[in-house]
Amino acid sequence: CGIVGFNGSLDAKEILIRGLEKLEYRGYDSAGIALLNENGVTVFKDKGRIAHLREIVDDQVEGTIGIGHTRWATHGEPNQVNAHPHQSASGRFTIVHNGVIENYYLLQREYLKDVPMKSDTDTEVIVQLVELFVNEGLSTEEAFRKAISLLHGSYAIALLDKEDLDTIYVAKNRSPLLIGVGEGFNVVASDALAMLQVTNQFIEIHDEEIVLVHKDKVEISTLDGQKIERNPYTVELDA
Ligand code: GLU
Repeated sequence: CGIVGFNGSLDAKEILIRGLEKLEYRGYDSAGIALLNENGVTVFKDKGRIAHLREIVDDQVEGTIGIGHTRWATHGEPNQVNAHPHQSASGRFTIVHNGVIENYYLLQREYLKDVPMKSDTDTEVIVQLVELFVNEGLSTEEAFRKAISLLHGSYAIALLDKEDLDTIYVAKNRSPLLIGVGEGFNVVASDALAMLQVTNQFIEIHDEEIVLVHKDKVEISTLDGQKIERNPYTVELDA
């Protein structure tokens, strides 16, 4: 399983799919991508191989910001509906997640009784929580922070907000995730291998940090909001 994300000025589609191909070695049962542009967000996902994902992705749809996922199902059988990305009730928020949310059922019962779930995954709870907290008046960053702070378990997460074409919201705990830094773009990946196609400069993320990946900067902070400065390191490997 694995995660990729791209935020820049080029079409993200091919970079995301190539990135997922580089993560194939980690094993998966489903794959998907979400592309965001001024007209909204489009999700392509299905059970099966990246080669199949390539076939179902519409070449006409472009986005300069996007996220991608290979799934190793833990909650809900491998099928089209349970494949990631997952979206909130209104479709405003879109998420990919690797790992297991141990308290997803409790969170669903406590906060989301009135929200009809679209999938059988633990993941969907996270994206529905973000939307709920935004509807209650928080900013997307505050809502993301609050949702993440409620999670117990392992996660690598990337989230898009349809109303923000310049931010990928990222968090991790006990699942791998790195930020890649480029000229005029920044990326996210479970493994540097996936993004050596565009950069060899990477920034580590620590458990329970929140990262806002913009096109021209990366903002890292702790869950309780303390800012963190961390320099990139160079990965010396052939793509
Ligand atoms: N627990 C999530 C699911 O079953 C993510 C699995 C993964 O790590 O790919 O959909």
